Amino acid sequence: MNGLSGGLCYLDHAATSPLRPEAAEAMAPFGADRYGNASGAHAMARDARTALEEAREVVAATVGAAPSEVVFTSGGTEADNLAVFGTLARCTEGHGPISAVCSSVEHAAVLAPLRAASRGAGAVLGVGRVRVREVGVDASARVDLDALDDALDDTTVLVSVMAANNEVGTLQPLDQVAALVRRRAPAAALHTDAVQAAPYLDLPAVAGGCDLVSLSAHKLGGPKGVGALVVRAPLRLAPMLHGGGQEQERRSGTHDVAGIVGFAAAARAAAERRDGEAARVAGLRDRFADLVCSAVPGVVESVARSATLPGFCHLRFLGIEQEELLVLLDRAGVCASAGSACASGAVEPSHVLLAMGVGSEEARSGIRFSLGHTTTEGEVARAAHGVADAAAQLRG
Ligand code: PLP
Repeated sequence: MNGLSGGLCYLDHAATSPLRPEAAEAMAPFGADRYGNASGAHAMARDARTALEEAREVVAATVGAAPSEVVFTSGGTEADNLAVFGTLARCTEGHGPISAVCSSVEHAAVLAPLRAASRGAGAVLGVGRVRVREVGVDASARVDLDALDDALDDTTVLVSVMAANNEVGTLQPLDQVAALVRRRAPAAALHTDAVQAAPYLDLPAVAGGCDLVSLSAHKLGGPKGVGALVVRAPLRLAPMLHGGGQEQERRSGTHDVAGIVGFAAAARAAAERRDGEAARVAGLRDRFADLVCSAVPGVVESVARSATLPGFCHLRFLGIEQEELLVLLDRAGVCASAGSACASGAVEPSHVLLAMGVGSEEARSGIRFSLGHTTTEGEVARAAHGVADAAAQLRG
């Protein structure tokens, strides 16, 4: 632990989770003397290639995929963009009108490329104009299955529904989504963004019915800037990055072998400890939520705990501006975050809370506390105390 994190209560694991020691240890030699380019032919390159392929097997196993189905990327954002543009570009040629469907609470890395495609802005990537339907959710951010049913038809080539939401932690009914897609739009590719779910869910079981699965290493306790898109055979995608033909022509670019090795080590550690960690983190989350709710009046839990990932606690502090609360929390050494911030710097009300039917003023009172593999009881108690103090100050 360094000097900065020593006194802090870090409740922002959904933003990024600290590097696991297993990942740091596995990566170290690749930042030093094992520096070969995995695409070469000599001994150093073969060493890198072997490490790369071993890592691929580990990552594939965490999703229940074949190693050849794993495409390493620069993170969850690229994985999501590749799933969207790669599918739409492949389906543009030779098809009539095409459409895509997603939930209205997807991460921006899914929503933005879909919206770009619907404006015709994907042309440079070979994507024709696509009709995009965003399907609503209920008050818990769970996708409306009837609306999804209505949105699907024989023009649908892509459906994207995340495994768990990154703001409020809601788990989506992926098995029901998959059954609906197979029945109503059997030719469509089903994509799930499993970036937040990966540390806690049994992905082979949960995402087994999905053709495309996005992962990001840093949410699992791996390094930032590495991720993967699982592309289940026989599905094919058009590549977005062209060049040396790495990843079976699906994603060109010299591999970040150190990052990929760290990703695999983190994925393995997370999978081995999943059940114990999920129970421990859920217990801490419950404790934190109970402490805050009993100490602070006017707090709303945005989603029932049983409907979310174990580490998520999204609270709305009625009458309090999230930015003001976050400033005081930061001063008190509590790291948490609000909803989505827009590029202009102004904090927009979260699109997730708005989709859940929360009014825009109340949406601006929401704070996401997210716990993870390093969270301790002491941290939770100190953070709850800090939250109660900050809320009391703001309410004066
Ligand atoms: N998808 C979800 C659900 C996320 O929470 C994030 C990161 O916050 C991403 C995608 C993007 O992943 P990355 O940070 O690896 O680009």
